[in-house]
Parts: sequence; structure tokens; C-alpha cells
Amino acid sequence: MNWRVPLSDVDFGAEEEEAVRQVVKSRWLTMGAVTQEFEREFAAYVGARHAIAVTNATAALHLACVAAGLGAGDEAVLPALTFVATANAVRYAGAVPVFADIAGENDLNLSVQAVEACITPRTRAIVVMHYGGYACDMPAILALAERHGLIVIEDAAHAIGSELDGRMLGTWGSIGCYSFFSNKNMTSGEGGMLVTNDDRLAERLRLLRSHGMTSLTWDRHKGHAWSYDVVDLGYNYRIDEIRSALGRVQLRKLPRNNQLRREKTALYRRLLAECCPAVSVPFDGHEGVSACHLLPILLPAGAPREAFMEAMKAQGVQTSIHYPPVHRFSGYRRLNLPGASNLPQTEALAAREVTLPLYPALPDDAIRFVVEAVQTSLAGAAQAARNVPKISRNLRDDA
Ligand SMILES: *Cc1c(COP(=O)(O)O)cnc(C)c1O
Repeated sequence: MNWRVPLSDVDFGAEEEEAVRQVVKSRWLTMGAVTQEFEREFAAYVGARHAIAVTNATAALHLACVAAGLGAGDEAVLPALTFVATANAVRYAGAVPVFADIAGENDLNLSVQAVEACITPRTRAIVVMHYGGYACDMPAILALAERHGLIVIEDAAHAIGSELDGRMLGTWGSIGCYSFFSNKNMTSGEGGMLVTNDDRLAERLRLLRSHGMTSLTWDRHKGHAWSYDVVDLGYNYRIDEIRSALGRVQLRKLPRNNQLRREKTALYRRLLAECCPAVSVPFDGHEGVSACHLLPILLPAGAPREAFMEAMKAQGVQTSIHYPPVHRFSGYRRLNLPGASNLPQTEALAAREVTLPLYPALPDDAIRFVVEAVQTSLAGAAQAARNVPKISRNLRDDA
């Protein structure tokens, strides 16, 4: 499809090409000096003691769950309105994901009250996800975790560079996980990062990243070690030097690109309020500084979303849904997980959500075009829905 306005776009140029060329020229491709620099720079940027680069954020979340000690019989409370990897990671560790509801129409993040209601004697962790880069209520989450002796893991895949009370998201909990997938705020194609201020967790995460081995190929190449022991059941979740080199360049560009995302978001908010008052834009007046990873809107309750997205597509505007909630996937429904039948806000709001195009180089004219398309598509979709003969409830109900 040749979109007039695509959903997202990467900011790659000569600097990225040169960084990759340098790695190829160096003839050292596996995790080594470039990765160490990337980790050092990332840790400094977010203000964490340790940063550990990995293959992707799914691997980061898995390692976080293992290092946090999650295992069989343990429960971790998390949102259903997230990417499936957040819940999968808990299951990889052998623990049970417990779904808590989101706060409401203006706050698509976890409701702290709902999290509290999910806590049982088996609860070990809370996994928060900062939707679109907007901060969860971390002071309240940490206080709740403290009262119940729980570990907090942050899925900060959307929130690279987001802040709350002057502190970066991903550094509030025990472990933070970031993604460098192609559509995230900074990218290395595939890639991820763990951060923590806990020296022991950092050591464990480093071991788990590379087979539980006490020395790396890089250490042996440098003459720092000639053999190794295997002290834990680890994985191969290493990143490579090419991706780390891309990550370093992208990290330098991130503050400016996030600022551009915030400006584009402000323009969207203004134009949507003017032209499409029936549409609501969550996180209005949010706390903190958002990385503005996504531009989510909520259609009026009952508006035909599929017809709306088709009408947007017909005008060349790519849209998406964040997210089909995890508990509704067939591979999750049959698990009958705790909390899955008590998610009224998630059910109602996820059904109305549509994500509009947003990326740093998105021209302001394109934003005006998208907002006009929202206006006409909404009217057109409603008109079309009225003309279609009523389908029986059974056929329409996708539950
Ligand atoms: C992208 C994403 C992930 C997974 O990241 P990968 O790097 O692709 O593994 C996890 N959680 C959320 C919320 C995401 O958006």
C-alpha cells in the first residue's frame, strides 16, 4: 500500500549508515566495545546505574521476570491493554498473568485501585506499561508494591525519554524494559534494553543474557579471560555491534525527535478539539513529559470502527489499533486467567480506540489532512452504518 500518510516512519540517514559501516570495517560484529558504549550512554541518559542491551524488549521482559524471581505458582498483575509480549514474558517465566483494568477514558494506563483488587497471597510483581509514553501513576504503584512486598517491572517500550517528576520512566521500578523495534521512538531494527539501579539484579541480568556464562567472547578476545563457568540457566539474548551502533546514533537524535512528537501531538489535540469534538484524545493534561510514542483517539461509543478505518484508508491514511486487549486473543481466552472477566473499562475503551499517524518528520499539513479525514470518515462511517440493514446480534458479536 502506498500511504499518503503512513502510521510511522524511521529517522535514518547518513549518520546511521556511517555507524554501521564503521562496525563492518572493524570486523567485530558480536556484543563488544560498541555495545558497552551504547549501554553506558543509555544508562547516563535515563539516569540508571546499569543498562543491559538485549535482542529485543520481549527478551528484556522475559529476563526481568526471571531475575525478579517469578516462577511457578506466582502471579504478576498487568494491563490487558498492552502488546501481548508483556503478558507472554510472565508466562515464559512460568508465572500467571493477572489482568487489571485501566483507569478510564482519559487515562488508558493501569488503575491503581484495580491493581490493588487483584493482589492475592500469590502476587509477586506488578508489570506496568506506560501507554503511548504517558506515565502510569508510579508514586501510587510503588507505594502499593511496598505495602504488599511486590517487585515492580516497567514495560517502557513506548516511553524512551518519558519523565515523571523529573525522573525517567523505566527507572521507577526495580527493572525497566525498552524496545528498539522499527516503529518505536528510537530503533535499531530489533533491539531492547534493561535498566536497573540494583547491582545484584544487573549482574544476574548480564549472566542470563548470555547462557549464564561467567565470561564473554569479548572478554576472551581482549585477553581478560581464557575460560568460563556456567552458573545459571541463561539464554542467548545478546545484541550485536551493528544494532548497538545504530542505537547510539538514534539515542543522540531521541531528545529532538521526542520534542517534535510532542509538538505534533499538541497540534493534533488542538485541531481534533476544533474539528472533531465527538472524538476524545486520551491523556489530556497528563502528568510528566511524554515521549508521545502514539496518538490514540477514542471514537464516540458505538461508532463503527472498522468502517471508520476503511474510510481513512480510502483517503490514504494508515491507522492502527493499540491494542486488541490480550485477554481476548483465542490463545489467551482458553487460559481463563484471573481478572479477565472483570475489565469493563478495557473492554469499552479498547473497542473505541484508533491510532493516528505520528512520527517526528510528519508535516503539519499532513496532520491537518489526517484531522479532516477523521472528520469526514466519522460522518461517512456513521452514514454507511445507518444504511446497512441491521445484522443479528449473534453475527455481530465477536466475543
Ligand atoms: C514493542 C513492544 C514490546 C516488544 O518489543 P520488541 O522489542 O518488539 O520485543 C513490548 N511491549 C510493548 C508495550 C511494546 O509496544
